[in-house]
Amino acid sequence: MSAFTHLECSMTGARLAADRAHNLSPEGWPLLARYDLTTLRRTADRDAIAARPAHAHPGFWKWRELLPVADDAHVTTLGEVDTPLIETPHSGRTLGLKGQLLVKDEGRLPTGSFKARGLALAVSMARRFGITAMAMPTNGNAGAALAAYGARAGMETWSFCPADTPEVNVREISAQGGRVYRVNGLIHQCGALVGALKEEMGWFDVSTLKEPYRIEGKKTMGIELASQLGWTLPDAIFYPTGGGTGLIGMWKAFDEMEALGWIGPERPKMFAVQADGCAPIVRAFEAGEEHAPEWLDASTSAAGIRVPKAIGDFLILRAVRASGGAALAVSEDDIEEVRALCGIVDGLLLCPEGAAAMAAVRQARQRGLIEADARCVVFNCGSGLKYALPDRARDLDRTKPVTRAMLEG
Ligand SMILES: *Cc1c(COP(=O)(O)O)cnc(C)c1O
Repeated sequence: MSAFTHLECSMTGARLAADRAHNLSPEGWPLLARYDLTTLRRTADRDAIAARPAHAHPGFWKWRELLPVADDAHVTTLGEVDTPLIETPHSGRTLGLKGQLLVKDEGRLPTGSFKARGLALAVSMARRFGITAMAMPTNGNAGAALAAYGARAGMETWSFCPADTPEVNVREISAQGGRVYRVNGLIHQCGALVGALKEEMGWFDVSTLKEPYRIEGKKTMGIELASQLGWTLPDAIFYPTGGGTGLIGMWKAFDEMEALGWIGPERPKMFAVQADGCAPIVRAFEAGEEHAPEWLDASTSAAGIRVPKAIGDFLILRAVRASGGAALAVSEDDIEEVRALCGIVDGLLLCPEGAAAMAAVRQARQRGLIEADARCVVFNCGSGLKYALPDRARDLDRTKPVTRAMLEG
């Protein structure tokens, strides 16, 4: 059912056989999975595939033709769902948008973040190649998804987190069967540890973009989005960008769907959103550079986008530029303000990264980068419930008279 044929170096275009496990290309660049789209164009009916029943093909697993897993026995599932597209009209108006503002709420996936998409695919493919131990650096959500899918597949998983990773993320990893370490450093330094120890420990390295299949899972966000919008795409996508897997993956999915005749040549403007305290992609975008040098002293409350150096930087920048979009940085105040706004006026609790993406809608409007009536999609990458919330409750002493004036005062 899978039309997967081979791997291709994202920089040189060199082909590699997909008959064994791979990390980077021999030249040291991310690898991309390629499919027999010519045959698929004749045989694959987008609407029939979209209508596959969830009990047999949960969530993103319905797009099996465009996924690399050939054998059903390798499919590792925890009950994936199609994530909802939720209108947030009050937030949209407050942020200066007259068009539709839609949030794709990825927090509904297993382990509460969109990392489930990528790691489900990475683990399933690792299973195919007989891998039994995997390791990665993680700001939390990726490690949680690796641990959960790894446990499901009977594998050993090792996660290395920066010491100030949100506590729930660190703990959920071991609660789902993974080994986890707090490291006194940032994510790329955790990555260096994995690199240094992997041979001795017998680990397969599943760091962002250092194996080819997490992108394939993440690209299903683009397919799912198109199918939910009646095989059209929005005017703009706001994506909180760390390693950029999702942005690169969606951009790839759009090309694949066009080659299949599922969508036309039109594309949304892609906005890669980062935080003021860690904005390497924004800096490179503005400087007109192809690569984004490491951001020093990275700091932001939005841990998922605290990635000082991304190996797929050039793929993110190419997609953003080709789309006519931009890379935008938002402040910590913006993140907090918009998180509160969307929760209070639209009843939808965002994670800090999702709030950053929504805050960038206001900036894009103010800078004239999108029309007032644009239809915008914001990715809320994880459940808002995973992150610390401001305490707005007041204490009440029930042993004394409680009056209306007290409650309303
Ligand atoms: C990983 C993560 C991101 C960044 O996603 P990439 O596709 O790696 O850029 C954003 N937000 C959250 C909550 C994450 O866990």
